[in-house]
Amino acid sequence: MTPQKFMATYLRLDEDGDQVLQQLPCPFLGADHYCSIYDVRPKACAEYPHTDRPKIYQIAEITLKNTAICPAAFEVVEQMKKEIK
Ligand code: SF4
Repeated sequence: MTPQKFMATYLRLDEDGDQVLQQLPCPFLGADHYCSIYDVRPKACAEYPHTDRPKIYQIAEITLKNTAICPAAFEVVEQMKKEIK
């Protein structure tokens, strides 16, 4: 599938102008709760929750949101808070 076909089939622009999935949950989430395209999943999925970025401070708002749904992001932020104190 070409990037153009993928975008037209699965993505839409949200109110912030970001490309997001047209439907949730993700159409590639299988009935077994595993990613059906794991080996070729998007970079954003492979890097989630993005806590190993050298410049994590640039995505502080996103990281904070992720702490509400991702235990790994929550633990990373908790460790960062301890190190700052
Ligand atoms: S890893 Fe990404 S592509 Fe795979 S099911 Fe989850 S959101 Fe969808």
